[in-house]
Amino acid sequence: MAYHHQHDCLILSALGCGAFKNPPTHMASIFKSVIQQYAGYFKTIHFAIIDDHNTGNQHNPDGNYLPFKRILDGFRVNATTHELCVGMASGPFKITGKDQENMIIDDVYIFGLPPCQYGAECYDLGDVQHCQAYSHPPLCPQHGACEQFLADGMHRSFFIHRKKCQHGGECLHITDEKHSRQYEHPEFCPANSECLDTSKDHLFHYRHLPRCKTGPIKCLLFLKRDPEHCRSYLHCKIICEFGTFCVNFHDQEHFNDQLHPFYQPCPSTPFSCR
Ligand SMILES: [Zn+2]
Ligand SMILES: [Zn+2]
Ligand SMILES: [Zn+2]
Ligand SMILES: [Zn+2]
Ligand SMILES: [Zn+2]
Ligand SMILES: [Zn+2]
Ligand SMILES: [Zn+2]
Repeated sequence: MAYHHQHDCLILSALGCGAFKNPPTHMASIFKSVIQQYAGYFKTIHFAIIDDHNTGNQHNPDGNYLPFKRILDGFRVNATTHELCVGMASGPFKITGKDQENMIIDDVYIFGLPPCQYGAECYDLGDVQHCQAYSHPPLCPQHGACEQFLADGMHRSFFIHRKKCQHGGECLHITDEKHSRQYEHPEFCPANSECLDTSKDHLFHYRHLPRCKTGPIKCLLFLKRDPEHCRSYLHCKIICEFGTFCVNFHDQEHFNDQLHPFYQPCPSTPFSCR
């Protein structure tokens, strides 16, 4: 609501910890997780808290100020767009479309769908129909390297944590919607279609564009430098897995598409060569 009305700061209080008797440590950690979910939407959030006649009770023996200060004072989070997929939440919005550079968002998502009762621990996150019917929390912004996952149960229920796909950037199911909802894959290689690195390690740690089926030598669109085609397909040569021991070196097509640690030998026999 505040973001919708173009406010960039919030002033809140120890909400729920007075007459409603919620323990302040619990409320403050819920705030912490919600602030992470909305990272990037507000510059600052202030909590104005005084310990009045509603404090020093059974639910808040230390008052409300101290527990909030301990959990939230100086807490900063940076916004992230990493691994946000269609159908997920970003702050108050629902992502309805995405290409490599832009995200299309839909206004105010939080009231759009009923929340799934299993939240981030839902087993049906791979089920597109289920995700269209119920809202789920966003992905953990620390993706893959999350330090709060084991220690902080609150964080675990506020953010989805996906398992890393064992095939990394070389996964064959990377474009499969169901698979990519359940498993985490690496980001696109920063070199994009210009990437020449074909080492196993690099291909595992970065996602790459699909390789052009026609290959770098015969692809007319590549030779014409068709911008759309070159942006969508890789045209660099791959390293032949047989290397020095490759026996296919007389096959021109194979030699054009794959890199070898030697030059293509003369196709003529030593006798007929001039
Ligand atoms: Zn669910
Ligand atoms: Zn996490
Ligand atoms: Zn995978
Ligand atoms: Zn690359
Ligand atoms: Zn091509
Ligand atoms: Zn070869
Ligand atoms: Zn020769």
